[in-house]
Amino acid sequence: MGSCSSQAALIPDVDQILRETGFSQASLLRLYHRFQALDREEKGYLRSQRVDFAGFARVLAHFRPVDEEDATTRDPKQPEPLNSRMNKLRFAFQLYDLDRDGKISRNEMLQVLRLMVGVQVTDEQLESITDRTVQEADEDGDGAVSFMEFSKSLEKMNIEQKMSIRILK
Ligand code: CA
Ligand code: CA
Repeated sequence: MGSCSSQAALIPDVDQILRETGFSQASLLRLYHRFQALDREEKGYLRSQRVDFAGFARVLAHFRPVDEEDATTRDPKQPEPLNSRMNKLRFAFQLYDLDRDGKISRNEMLQVLRLMVGVQVTDEQLESITDRTVQEADEDGDGAVSFMEFSKSLEKMNIEQKMSIRILK
């Protein structure tokens, strides 16, 4: 543990990142090495995109598996952990809401679905999948999906499990 914590001390703002993300020190250290390797491979790309390690860890923290301990020992005055269901939903919603206006428009849905599905789907099929998805979620009929509508349409889905990456313990 001694060598691990002294190495972790090299990470800028390590204490704050640990608090915010809930990662163990060992996991955070592993991520940090990975981050540095990526940064080198990309020849400073991450740096130029202003992705610092804290931001990188915060994004990945959404995918940290939920452990039972978190729920029982959590101080209710603290903000919800990044891997809570609500924060996972918010994170997913932001991936769709490209212009960040708080709604997923039909066009945004189409763009994201196009990225997610393979080439085997024709444009026509994609348009009809998009229409169906938006229509199913759109309760107030404004043609777009709000965050409320988005979370409601995913109510029955086990987001906690689907959005977990086991290696991020
Ligand atoms: Ca939008
Ligand atoms: Ca709507």
